Amino acid sequence: MSEKSVEIKNIILTEEGRNLEFDVIVKSKIHHLYFRSKSNPFTPSTEAYIIMALLPAMKSGQDIVTEGDVDSRFNNSLKTIQSIFINWLPHQQLRRFSLPNNIKQIENKTLSDRGLACFSGGLDSFYTLLKNKTQITDLLFIKGFGKDNEDPKITTKITNHIHSAAMELDKNVIEISTNLRPFLTKFFPSKIIHGAMLASIGHLFSGTFSSFFIPTSTTYNDLTPWGSHPLLDPLWSTNFLEVINDGSEADRIQKLRMVSEFEFVLNNLRVCNNKSDLWLNCGECEKCIRTMAGLLAIDKLDNCKTFNNKLSTESIRRLHSGNVLSSSVASFYPNILYELEKNEANYDLCYEISQIVYNRNLSEKLRDSLKNYLRRYKYRFPKIYKLFRE
Ligand SMILES: [Zn+2]
Repeated sequence: MSEKSVEIKNIILTEEGRNLEFDVIVKSKIHHLYFRSKSNPFTPSTEAYIIMALLPAMKSGQDIVTEGDVDSRFNNSLKTIQSIFINWLPHQQLRRFSLPNNIKQIENKTLSDRGLACFSGGLDSFYTLLKNKTQITDLLFIKGFGKDNEDPKITTKITNHIHSAAMELDKNVIEISTNLRPFLTKFFPSKIIHGAMLASIGHLFSGTFSSFFIPTSTTYNDLTPWGSHPLLDPLWSTNFLEVINDGSEADRIQKLRMVSEFEFVLNNLRVCNNKSDLWLNCGECEKCIRTMAGLLAIDKLDNCKTFNNKLSTESIRRLHSGNVLSSSVASFYPNILYELEKNEANYDLCYEISQIVYNRNLSEKLRDSLKNYLRRYKYRFPKIYKLFRE
């Protein structure tokens, strides 16, 4: 076992390709990873293994050793990918690894016309699916990938909603489970590794699909270092699999307007990661509040069947007492507040929401953006405006 390299070893593919296991050895410590698919088989992929090993290798200052040749397009991007992470995480003292020199010969192979999209049942997932419904043929649902619980009853309920939504558009669902997330979060937080996590899983299906969609939650206007990113995601592509970061052109309100035209979306929308036996969305957490406020602003909250309650000032107050949002989460709110304030009846809700968004540490850009949205309401809503004043 070499101290100099992260090694991917003991790759086992069983159950007609639906069970993939291997060891990733980092600094002599063995991490056993598994991937289980209910239907479609996995394609062992050197690129997938490199993506999974990339951040651990950079953090531990090791190279990557894996069997198999590497796609030339992917190999050419590795230098830039490393530069992005080094630039994003200047205090981590990340080290570059040597690029693999076993480059795959370009095969003369016909590209599949099937497209796979990550799908959790959330707003970004539905937006990407509806926008690209011709190219997307299959939906990838990764169980236990969010902060989802392991309670089988709740998992079954969530899965049923995923299938019900997919059926409406005649899409196939590929359900998988994996322990990739707990492995990668030993090295970096989820917000840094989640794009790499998804891209690596996409590559495990590269034998079947030629495009892999990663729905994004941020817009081109709010880009910050974030694991799934329009700059980074396409760099995970190979000559045979296009990794697509999708949806950065639309903000929450634009996405909600688009998807809420479809009743099946309002019957299956799931944005919440909290455990709930009864409802898909708890209605109390930040993600729920954010979505409910957006739905209310476009007058669709009553039509959405997956929230159990009305948006109340009390539940928002509970959320902000003692809490301030990070800049990246706060960036979702300016346009929601802007839409919500168009109706004076929403004044109290707007005031409470502005309290959860208010954060002295907000970036200057975000503070400006909030102020611009609120400026026209300076006289109508002076209390809210005052919060964001210099
Ligand atoms: Zn919730």
